[in-house]
Amino acid sequence: MSSIEAEPSNYKATLSLIVESGIYRHHTLKRRLLKIITEICSASILDTIKVSHWEVLYYLIESQLCEKTVAVTDISLGTEIPATTARRLLRSLEKAGIITTRQDRSDKRRIVAELTRECQQEVFDFVSDYTDGFAGLIQRHDKQERKFAEAALEKTQEKLSEGEERFGKLVQDISAAVVVHATDTRISLINGKALELLGITESQAKGRIAIDPGWSFLHLDGTPVEVKNYPVNQVLASLEPMHKMDLGIARTDTSDIVWVRVSAVPVFKRGNLNEIIVSFMDITENVIAEEKMHKINLLFNQAEKIGKLGYWEWDEINERLFSCSEQCAKIYGMTIEKMIETLTSGVTNANLVHEDDRERFARVRTCESKQGYDIEYRINDQAGKQIYIREISEPLFDEQGKIIKSIGVVQDISDRKMAEREIAQADLRRLNDSLEEQIRERTIKLTEAKKQAEILAKTDPLSCLNNRRAFFEQANKIEALAKRYRHQYTVVMIDLDNFKIINDSHGHATGDEVIELLGKKIIEVIRSTDIAGRIGGEEFAIILPETKIDKALELAERLRREISDLKINTPSKNLLTFSASIGVAELSTKDRHFNDTLRRADKVLYQAKEQGRNRVVVSQ
Ligand code: GH3
Ligand code: MG
Ligand code: MG
Repeated sequence: MSSIEAEPSNYKATLSLIVESGIYRHHTLKRRLLKIITEICSASILDTIKVSHWEVLYYLIESQLCEKTVAVTDISLGTEIPATTARRLLRSLEKAGIITTRQDRSDKRRIVAELTRECQQEVFDFVSDYTDGFAGLIQRHDKQERKFAEAALEKTQEKLSEGEERFGKLVQDISAAVVVHATDTRISLINGKALELLGITESQAKGRIAIDPGWSFLHLDGTPVEVKNYPVNQVLASLEPMHKMDLGIARTDTSDIVWVRVSAVPVFKRGNLNEIIVSFMDITENVIAEEKMHKINLLFNQAEKIGKLGYWEWDEINERLFSCSEQCAKIYGMTIEKMIETLTSGVTNANLVHEDDRERFARVRTCESKQGYDIEYRINDQAGKQIYIREISEPLFDEQGKIIKSIGVVQDISDRKMAEREIAQADLRRLNDSLEEQIRERTIKLTEAKKQAEILAKTDPLSCLNNRRAFFEQANKIEALAKRYRHQYTVVMIDLDNFKIINDSHGHATGDEVIELLGKKIIEVIRSTDIAGRIGGEEFAIILPETKIDKALELAERLRREISDLKINTPSKNLLTFSASIGVAELSTKDRHFNDTLRRADKVLYQAKEQGRNRVVVSQ
């Protein structure tokens, strides 16, 4: 500051400021710069500040299309400000580190001297730094105001065009495609990447306008983009930046489609639209990958639906549902959002589980989630219907072996369970039916066997007639009925003649055969209502109910005759005949019991024996 002497307070000044800086500094730099200017100067001059390239660079930073660039800023305060204010501003900028004064005072002095000479005026102050900033504060005298201002502007302009040149080079270098359009949409600048993606040469590109019929842009769904919706035309119509529109460039050279993400920004000069900068990047691979992903997702969703299968991810650290598929949520009767909202902060799906299964479910989840589990349980849906679910879970661990999350699949197995139950019920029914059948058969057999046993218990095996006990049982019944209804009956007693001799002469087996044959004969001769029994070794008795003595005699006589006609082969091959003596007694009023009648029959049987055997004697 030593070169600057007296400073007339009524002088006006113009500030030209050129700031170069690394891109990351730019963002905050602009804010700080404007803040300082508004603090020092009045707000009304702000709209006359010319800030070139800010928007472009700002956009490039935002879009992350370039990583490092250099911004060139020219702030020219179009309005004159008092010299003191200008000076204060310069000092503040310097203090804020936006511009720096070079330590090399001789260089500064040289420039100041140069400017003074050029302007033929004293340069009030000058601050310059090659790398970080350049600023000139020029004091103007009233007389040569114009010349002075022009010189200052020229100097500034020189720096500015340097900046613009650099900007041009930068645009060529960056990996994003950049196309600069004039306000009539004519291409004024296009970089190599843009030429590559559009598939045209620079000479083909230069001067082409947005409505050129050679352009063919497509939406992601394949429909053509209307001319009015071309990014350039949109910005032209709205004068607003347009961000990230995805479209396809139908290439005329290869007939391929190149997919790009496009942004476009308007650039203003002195408040008027100056140019439109369109930038885009190749997203073809992303679009193809997304399309593939979309197809896979569709397939996956379909598979989930068919299998009634869903998946979920559980955040084991924060104890909450991380994500789940649509089908998973559907099984639980919720939306995905509702699932994520419900299953959070320690609330596990246990609350959804049917209360009878809840304890088992919670136990498996807490004890076995670290090893994974496979469990079946029920939930109640909104309608109160039970849904059977099979859930399989697998834990995922970090490098330290700490569990970070679990992934699982759930499947609605209600149909399977229903089918299983139906099969089980059908099996049970079949089993029941066959059991009943078996019981029926067994009962029939048992009844038969019982009947058989009863018969056997009552039957004499040799003669097949009632045995003694059975005969007397029957006799008692008939006696009781006869007494009650004053019915009649007759008793017939039969005794084989000289049976001892048969046994002795032909053997006991032949004797048995005689008894057998006699039994058959008695059954043949009597009626079904008559009762016959073997009451001793070779003694037989018959009760003939409702039968009077004459009919009984007839029967006895016939029986005697037919017995004497019977023949048996003896072991010595002779034919053996035999006979029986028969006593007949009718129930008499004197008989008090059946035994009385039987005794009378027996008595006359002995008379028959005495009279020479093989005859019938009737008790009178
Ligand atoms: P009578 O004409 O006087 O009746 O002479 P009997 O020989 O028939 O009479 P007795 O009472 O003297 O003999 C009866 C014989 O019948 C004696 C016995 O061995 C025989 N006997 C009794 N029960 C059976 C039997 O079940 N089988 C055989 N083979 N013989 C029997
Ligand atoms: Mg006898
Ligand atoms: Mg005898």
